[in-house]
Amino acid sequence: SAVSDADLTVDLGGGMDRESRTDGLPRVALMPVGRELLTGRVLDSNSQFLASNLFERGLLVQRVCSVDDEIGAIAREIRRCKADGVAAIITCGGLGPTPDDMTLKAVANGLGRPCLRDDEALEHVERRYRELHEAGRLLVPGMNPDREKMAWLPLGSRILPNSVGTAPGVDIAWGRTRVFCLPGVPAEMKAMAESWVFPQLDVLSNGVIRRLTLTLGVLDESSLAAVIRRLVPVHPLVHMKPSPKRFGTRRVMLVHLESEGDEEDVEARIDACAKDLQEAVDRGIVDR
Ligand code: ATP
Repeated sequence: SAVSDADLTVDLGGGMDRESRTDGLPRVALMPVGRELLTGRVLDSNSQFLASNLFERGLLVQRVCSVDDEIGAIAREIRRCKADGVAAIITCGGLGPTPDDMTLKAVANGLGRPCLRDDEALEHVERRYRELHEAGRLLVPGMNPDREKMAWLPLGSRILPNSVGTAPGVDIAWGRTRVFCLPGVPAEMKAMAESWVFPQLDVLSNGVIRRLTLTLGVLDESSLAAVIRRLVPVHPLVHMKPSPKRFGTRRVMLVHLESEGDEEDVEARIDACAKDLQEAVDRGIVDR
């Protein structure tokens, strides 16, 4: 059925806000580890942080797969991501001293490598416990077997210092895939991602990303279906993603247009697609 005039009369004052783009991008797999994510006790905010930051830098998350604290589950998923051909795999969580923290052992298993005690990691863990004790944040200084466990890394790991907590992260080259294992505590994960992971992945990113959000006075998402179907082949390099939003008391549609490539091409592509979409809505024939 056609959209009524009333559906198309919301005044949105311009309607376009430029952000940044989408395909042909290097892909990244995210693997948050922990039972608490699977039971819903903890919301996986780490993946949202990583995905949005990676996208802004020109990398697209191919898959987010939360896994249980279980060696087999983690190792299997690591191998599956590798088989998918992603440029990088980022795990977070399970680096700590307790028995449920087994990510590095499982990653070593997935890579088919031994997990060995690393002197640099041991020195890092010792130093962090000393510093936290001196700062009055820990009662018991010194090492014990549980703390030492955090220094066992898959063979070939480079350690990533943890400036907030105690467990170092790791960066492993695995053929053409980079594997980063980050802590689960969000503040620790963010510090490590920003200081090391993002700058490392920046070199993989190859195009300008543009995202244009078009706000359309269309109240019913289904009424956009036909027009998007028609425009997809006309604008094959633009990814169109509608999302409904409340605008005051009315519900309107935002359409996110994303594309990637050279700066001028991207801009022209997005502008042309936005113009076609807007015209279709203005004519009120969006679903014929
Ligand atoms: P640590 O550096 O403290 O040893 P860790 O790597 O062992 O950390 P976990 O024990 O797996 O991390 O998680 C620590 C806490 O971080 C969890 O209890 C949870 O509150 C939070 N957390 C873990 N994963 C996530 C996630 N994906 N999103 C948001 N919070 C998370």
